[in-house]
Amino acid sequence: MTYSSFIPPQRTLMGPGPSDVSQQVLSALARPTIGHLDPLFIEMMDEVKCLLQYAFQTRNEMTLALSAPGSAGMEACFVNLITPDDTVVVCQNGVFGSRMAENVKRIGAKLVLIEGEWGRAVSTASLEATLSKHPEASIVAFVHAETSTGARSDAKTLCEIAQKHDCLTIVDAVTSLGGCELRVDEWGIDAIYAGSQKCLSCVPGISPISFSPKAVEVIKSRTTTVQSWFLDQSLVMSYWSGEGKRAYHHTAPVNSLYALHESLIMLKNEGLENAWQRHQNMHDLLAKGLAKLGLNFVVPENERLAQLNTVYIPQGVDDAKVRHFLLNEYNLEIGAGLGQFAGKAWRIGLMGYGARKENVALCLAALKEALAFE
Ligand SMILES: *Cc1c(COP(=O)(O)O)cnc(C)c1O
Repeated sequence: MTYSSFIPPQRTLMGPGPSDVSQQVLSALARPTIGHLDPLFIEMMDEVKCLLQYAFQTRNEMTLALSAPGSAGMEACFVNLITPDDTVVVCQNGVFGSRMAENVKRIGAKLVLIEGEWGRAVSTASLEATLSKHPEASIVAFVHAETSTGARSDAKTLCEIAQKHDCLTIVDAVTSLGGCELRVDEWGIDAIYAGSQKCLSCVPGISPISFSPKAVEVIKSRTTTVQSWFLDQSLVMSYWSGEGKRAYHHTAPVNSLYALHESLIMLKNEGLENAWQRHQNMHDLLAKGLAKLGLNFVVPENERLAQLNTVYIPQGVDDAKVRHFLLNEYNLEIGAGLGQFAGKAWRIGLMGYGARKENVALCLAALKEALAFE
């Protein structure tokens, strides 16, 4: 058997992530690898931290890029903040909320699960009622942008309710960071994690995370060690914190961090609020076209994510056949339904660099042709 280089086709990625990566970011990725403790690399890591503080809208000192995908960012938040003595309220309205619940169970803490309707925002009223019934709860966790359904929850109000009941908050912002309004300090979010491959349009495998001073206090006052050595933030932080006292913890994915640095510069140059607005504008354009094709949204208009559009597959249309057609004829990827929506809906992503007019036009034209065959 002889092997040759893998040359991927040029696809347009309009699924739930990874999203299209720009040539500017890909070029950054291909620059020479240097040592992860090289002084110049350390300077770049400091810039990544500042740029992430901007993207998250936070002054949190403990803000960094975890060397692992979004799922590890989720786990980092849970294992650092929660011990088996805690009661944790998880608001679940899709696949990623279920994973939060799974994290709580594996830690051995008490789980109070609020099961919300898929395709809808998390109910603020249910959170209020649940916290009134469970004064022992100390943490509230929810997903801001549920990528499995396309629903956006009211993170600001959910955090207000949690604070009123003296709970810390853990927020999944994997799909929201860079794609819709998100203000960590103003909303009082205590622990948050995101992903590199969604609205930042960087390569997969990195998870930006941030912990509030209150969350850092909780981590510092733990009497038991964090069950995961790799994700223990007190150790990871000594790798990321400056002043010449960096301790080796693991080897950072050097080139991937060049790429993240570049994608964050692109976000900074565009302006965070402009990026949020661009996602909304492209969504409006796509929604108009989808309506003309007779496709109906799963999520009510005021709870929709701009960056992830979930539409029902029309009666009698072959899900897999359409997606294969788009991929083979147009090099276009859209997402299949996940969980309860498997086989019932498509997920069309407009994330980061992919949230552009040409992508909207391509997707609408390709879908129109595919549906005409059906
Ligand atoms: C993609 C995603 C994750 C998981 O991120 P990975 O990088 O795939 O591990 C978690 N939560 C949400 C909301 C996501 O969209």
